[in-house]
Amino acid sequence: SSSLHASITDKPYPQLSCQMVELFEACQQQPSDLQRKEVCRSRLQQDIQQIFPSARLYLTGSSMNGLGSRCSDADICLVIKGNKKPDALRVLGRLLKLFKTLSYVERNQLIRAKVPILRFREKGSDLEFDLNVNNTVGIRNTFLLRSYAYADLRVRPMILVIKKWARYNNINDASKGTLSSYTLVLMVLHYLQTLSEPVLPSLQRDYPESFNPLMDLDMVPEGPKHIPPYISRNKSSLGELLLGFLKYYATEFSWDKQVISVREARAFPKNNSKEWNNKFICVEEPFERNNVARAVHEKLKFDAIKAKFAESCRLLHERKELNSILPFRAII
Ligand code: ATP
Ligand code: MG
Repeated sequence: SSSLHASITDKPYPQLSCQMVELFEACQQQPSDLQRKEVCRSRLQQDIQQIFPSARLYLTGSSMNGLGSRCSDADICLVIKGNKKPDALRVLGRLLKLFKTLSYVERNQLIRAKVPILRFREKGSDLEFDLNVNNTVGIRNTFLLRSYAYADLRVRPMILVIKKWARYNNINDASKGTLSSYTLVLMVLHYLQTLSEPVLPSLQRDYPESFNPLMDLDMVPEGPKHIPPYISRNKSSLGELLLGFLKYYATEFSWDKQVISVREARAFPKNNSKEWNNKFICVEEPFERNNVARAVHEKLKFDAIKAKFAESCRLLHERKELNSILPFRAII
């Protein structure tokens, strides 16, 4: 973090940049937070193996990708090996019953979304779990995001601040028709990839073997271990990047014509394809290439999202203080 502090002095917006580093340092997930999740994961795996002997549990999402905060939930992927694909809803139905007998689980409920999940808490704590079945793309993209998070020192503070900003502004809830955290993170990465001096490359293009979509699941965390940090000529401060991000989505990006592709490090045209046409926001899943922003299907919500970008862009340009778009009281 001393190098982070050093990299933002004598640059434009030093105060804003410092405020971003301070927020990041106060909010980022701590090793003890991850340890608690890992203890729970391994206990659950043992208990689940009583019914499904081949079951393996993988921690995914912000707990593992370097973009988590102290209050992030634990996303878990249950992988059941076998000849035929098990029906996710049936598996979750059996787990729902099993979990009722576990002393360390509470508020256990089945959520029938497009990817159905079991949501529960560790008893007596505020640690929340979202468990899916065989949604293994989540394991692969978690380690892709992790590689981006550590490719440049500015990425983690930048994304954590933007996630807090989106949550404060009520535009970070896919179940309410706004942006999932995953979509938001891809939007930030896209901005950093497409600056005239990029802060990030396309890692899938530069290291195809590390992100081979057919790689054995147990090798996925190993795959990107030896990717060196990206050396960017862009020396912008965190404050400049945050202002640039808001401006990009407030005034530069064409929502109606472009698809965000982190895989290709560019925006490509919708070209009348069924996946992208008539969708308000198009963000390509880097492995499955479908739209991760499909939750945004109401014009009203789309307009609300754009309005937040425009309003925060104006406020931050005027005041140059993080407090103007994300009040301190709203953070913890
Ligand atoms: P938070 O800190 O807010 O919990 P998060 O990084 O865990 O954020 P989520 O949006 O909760 O982000 O998603 C958790 C994980 O689930 C992602 O990291 C990704 O691996 C996977 N995921 C979520 N949405 C999709 C999707 N549409 N397609 C593929 N994988 C997804
Ligand atoms: Mg999560």
